[in-house]
Amino acid sequence: MNDDNKLITVTSPLLPDLDEFHEMLKEIWDSKWITNNGSFHKQLEKELAEYLKVPYVSLFTNGTLPLITALQALHITGEVITTPYSFVATTHALWWNGIKPVFVDIDPSTGNIDPEKIESAITSRTTAIMPVHVYGKPCDTKKIQSIADKYGLKVIYDAAHAFGVEVNGESVLNAGDLSTLSFHATKVYNTIEGGAMIMHDEQTKKRIDYLKNFGFHGETEVIAPGINSKMDEIRSAYGILNLRQVDAAIEARHQVAIKYRNALREVDGITFFDDMPGVRHNYSYFPIFIDSEKYGMSRDELYFKMKESNVLGRRYFYPLISEFSTYKGLPSAGRENLPNAHKMADSVICLPMYHSLTDMDVQKVISILKREKAE
Ligand SMILES: *Cc1c(COP(=O)(O)O)cnc(C)c1O
Repeated sequence: MNDDNKLITVTSPLLPDLDEFHEMLKEIWDSKWITNNGSFHKQLEKELAEYLKVPYVSLFTNGTLPLITALQALHITGEVITTPYSFVATTHALWWNGIKPVFVDIDPSTGNIDPEKIESAITSRTTAIMPVHVYGKPCDTKKIQSIADKYGLKVIYDAAHAFGVEVNGESVLNAGDLSTLSFHATKVYNTIEGGAMIMHDEQTKKRIDYLKNFGFHGETEVIAPGINSKMDEIRSAYGILNLRQVDAAIEARHQVAIKYRNALREVDGITFFDDMPGVRHNYSYFPIFIDSEKYGMSRDELYFKMKESNVLGRRYFYPLISEFSTYKGLPSAGRENLPNAHKMADSVICLPMYHSLTDMDVQKVISILKREKAE
């Protein structure tokens, strides 16, 4: 079987069995209840809370609106400390709330915000810290919480990458005041578009449920200017089915990661992350970092060579959020303030990583990475 020209994409969605999905659609059609806290919505919230080992889950229509709503719910204003090494939605959520982002550099050993650099960025206007568990690698949540406690700050985690990630058996989603997830098609667990917020107590869960439904409390009372960001019954049903196969998908990703690591460990000029002790990883991404001198080719040259060979990598995260025109003028966005983030953004390529990647696909990616070096 020679399929040398087959396109290998960087990601591919986990899809439920179509017949099973049809059966659930039939139930929805029969009930004629298609959105607004229907039975599949409630069921998925309950099943996710159990799977993720968290007390409360509120489902959303994507992963950006829970970030925006989390800031609203905690009445965050002024300045918020965050990372430039993330997907642009993290900082956009601050912008939508009229909050000034303050970028802090990352720890090169994890890609996450460097807790050692947070304190010097705190001012009298700082009200919160918004870190990201980049690639699903857990932040130093204890250190971040101790800084937050010292200065009376809230902590909201953008946990879009951290579905199912646990540290010593405990969900990383329980850290901070609130955490948010994305269930976008490209994520480990998807509901096509979708997301969630994780909270610690029932009162907050109720408040968030009001906020995602225009602020309605009952039929006639509106408690706050909420937004509409509810998940519908069709995607909730899809999510229930995908939850049943997500463990197998994560294990398949784990096997891909093992193959990449075994093959690439000996390649001069390519580095990658290893698993962290005590952590249940979700293998959401497989970033590699190119040292152009040692590798003999720049990151971008390799990226385009891969493309020519029909293997799509992704320069994720490049450019940094602080480089986009909306944020570039901010005092904290200067290159000199963010040297580690720039270094990572300039050297990263995320390799194809998904549950259905075949052994042949993986071998092709590896051989390109090895062959290109020899050329
Ligand atoms: C995917 C992602 C989001 C946004 O999620 P959507 O569901 O696409 O709105 C936010 N933050 C990070 C870090 C992401 O990767």
